[in-house]
Amino acid sequence: MMAFVKKHVYGFILLLIAIFIVGLVINYIKARRVDNEINNNIRASLLTISQAENEYLRFLYTLEAYAYQRPETTHEKVVLRMEILWSRLPILLYGDSTKPIRGLKSLAGTVRHVMTTIERIEPLVMALKPGDLATYKNIRAEVDPLYQPVHKLLLNAYLWDSQVGSYGETMRRTVLTQEALSLLGVLLLGAVLIALLFREVHNRKALEEELRHQANTDPLTNANNRRFFLNLSEREYLRVRRYGRPLATLMLDIDHFKNINDVHGHAVGDEVLKQCVRTCLRLLRAGDILGRMGGEEFAVTLPEEGLEKAETIAERLREGIEKMEISGPGGIIRITVSIGLTQANPITDSNFEDVLYRADQALYDAKRAGRNCVSAL
Ligand code: GH3
Ligand code: MG
Ligand code: MG
Repeated sequence: MMAFVKKHVYGFILLLIAIFIVGLVINYIKARRVDNEINNNIRASLLTISQAENEYLRFLYTLEAYAYQRPETTHEKVVLRMEILWSRLPILLYGDSTKPIRGLKSLAGTVRHVMTTIERIEPLVMALKPGDLATYKNIRAEVDPLYQPVHKLLLNAYLWDSQVGSYGETMRRTVLTQEALSLLGVLLLGAVLIALLFREVHNRKALEEELRHQANTDPLTNANNRRFFLNLSEREYLRVRRYGRPLATLMLDIDHFKNINDVHGHAVGDEVLKQCVRTCLRLLRAGDILGRMGGEEFAVTLPEEGLEKAETIAERLREGIEKMEISGPGGIIRITVSIGLTQANPITDSNFEDVLYRADQALYDAKRAGRNCVSAL
């Protein structure tokens, strides 16, 4: 799972951002819907209820005027008012094309009650004659009790409207909180993934570094191995050819090393090799290249050095190693080295191998001259 995440880390981050954006859009649509509901639905209901109450009062007024024979009031007008009142009522239940009323289910009982009452009084209204106060009173007895519940509806709706503002505010705040939380979540996940990515890159780099070190280093002494030493030295030799800079190379071989192994054991021999490298590195400069060429043979390339300076350095190394005291099981062990040295000649040397060959010849001379000495060629 972790490996999969690491491999597709950018894809994952993109996916998370996409999810976050989709979440934002959904939340935005939600917030818009809340606003629409508040504006269209609830405000429209309020208006419709107040219209219904108005129609109810106008119907009563016309009815009364007709029963008491006031001028300019006809039976047609009474019936018309009743029909208008009737027509207002279903809107409260189902809305109409311009007012999509929802969320008013609590009104349904009251509205239905008003509707059945009007159905009941309809024949009485149709039969009403001017001055027929008995029938009029019967109608009023049915209709008057409707005022209370209808007015209560309106009061409730007003109350509702005043709450609607804070309701919308709460909804918006909820939506915003959700957005903030999802943003935080995405950021956290992103941070975790990026941290994973960085760790992975770091690990890989460390591994590469380790592998490179292993490939280039002699495991016993930590000096450059033969291959890497030749590689680095060849590069230096190119500078000799290109820019005419001086370069010297030493070959270094421990004297009678076989004896040390034979007398003190292979482990002590190994320790001698390690100390030998440590001493050389201590006496050389940072730019100098030390390599273990095999067995108890080492080579040093000294960039920017001529024969004279190289002899001084070789002598310094020889002395340093001579002074080394290696503690073995049988007491202190001392060793000496023979050193052959030479300077690169860009005219006669075709590559670094030629320089190294000459240094090896010089080493041979040093051995023949009695060991523990420096010889130049
Ligand atoms: P000379 O003065 O002529 O150089 O004599 P020498 O004994 O040093 O030369 P020779 O080449 O005969 O012996 C080298 C010895 O180094 C032989 C081998 O057993 C030993 N040797 C090579 N590699 C290692 C190593 O990694 N560890 C140890 N302890 N010994 C090694
Ligand atoms: Mg030797
Ligand atoms: Mg040898």
